[in-house]
Amino acid sequence: MNEKLFSYIAACPSPYHTVAHTAAILADAGYTPLSEGDDWTLEAGKGYYVTRGGSSILAFRVPAADFRGFTMAAAHTDSPTFKIKENAELGGSYVRLATEKYGGMLCASWMDRPLSVAGRVTVRTPDGIAVRLVDLGEPCAIIPNVAIHMNRRANDGMTYDAATDMIPLWGGEAGSFRRQVAASLGLDEGDILTTDLAVYNPQPGTVWGSYISAPRLDDLQCAFAALEAFLAAPPSDCTPVLCLFDNEEVGSQTKQGAASTFLCDTLGRINLAFGGDAARYCRRVANSFLVSCDNAHAVHPNHPEYADKNHTVRMGGGVVIKYNASQRYTSDAVSAGLFRLLCERAGVPVQMYANRADMPGGSTLGNIANTQVSLNTVDVGIAQLAMHSALETAGADDTAAMVGALTALFAASPAMCADGSFRI
Ligand code: ZN
Repeated sequence: MNEKLFSYIAACPSPYHTVAHTAAILADAGYTPLSEGDDWTLEAGKGYYVTRGGSSILAFRVPAADFRGFTMAAAHTDSPTFKIKENAELGGSYVRLATEKYGGMLCASWMDRPLSVAGRVTVRTPDGIAVRLVDLGEPCAIIPNVAIHMNRRANDGMTYDAATDMIPLWGGEAGSFRRQVAASLGLDEGDILTTDLAVYNPQPGTVWGSYISAPRLDDLQCAFAALEAFLAAPPSDCTPVLCLFDNEEVGSQTKQGAASTFLCDTLGRINLAFGGDAARYCRRVANSFLVSCDNAHAVHPNHPEYADKNHTVRMGGGVVIKYNASQRYTSDAVSAGLFRLLCERAGVPVQMYANRADMPGGSTLGNIANTQVSLNTVDVGIAQLAMHSALETAGADDTAAMVGALTALFAASPAMCADGSFRI
């Protein structure tokens, strides 16, 4: 399972690649692509997928008989990185890449590490523009540290200025960046109109003992697990939906993020295609369950003090259910209870996470998605160390545990009871 995960991560150096690669896997499995700009003719018993912005994707499989609701797992396609500005080259003693931060990375982990470049460009066509994916593949940039001899305070609590300290050194000569990007597509520099490019860590994932280390485990580990489970689950009375959203690392408030209308629009169109009016939509959403999957903070081996003593989660301990009284996590007794039951069915261990009461912690997809589609939702994840490092570490057995839990989700048929509890 982990080798398969590493292949997925390697094929997904940017959110655009994650969506294209996921779409290709779905197409291979017989799923039909839909465009938001076209009419949808949906058939019972068939599977479909639709993308938005090239960096978010929803896939669903309609049961052969009428369906009651949706079983959904959501994860995010993006990870913290340094986005390359449109006028990409900076002068100085060497050629450097003009970048700005995308998300909140651990800056130190990005230094002295061979980096590559991936994303997308637009090119002219006879009647408009076309999008082409770019992955330079090979190491071509590095963000160098200052030697300890010149900065004697380098080990005493560094601060990192994105505009000076974190600028990547580019491997090519002046004027070569755009040329090399174009050449990777068999194009001339002048063919490229505009770019969405960022650096990424091309290091392959590795299993070492009980652990795995790889770039972008947050949140491609959950995206991969959700995709595997979605494809593996047997039919149920519900429509399973795989939801991979971009822009979680910058707050989700984009046209394709979890705060967008993408999920709401898609569920609405599925409902309409299968005889649903507005009331039926409400009933179907009420009889649904959303599992928001984003990696969780494992207790740190050297710094256990950052974890809540009674809610420490550890790598190798199974799937994590996350709680937060301020509702940054959506889990409540009902949604967490249902998920715990699904894990029991799957034979998967669960562990309970809450932040220390004096630490705000992070946020994720579930409560944001609920502002557009409000339904029974739980926040879960896989325990990992060094979240937002260029290389993250997790438990070797936990990917399979998440696949098991989400397969049980997609096989389930939730139904809301009159008192607000659920059968599943
Ligand atoms: Zn995340």
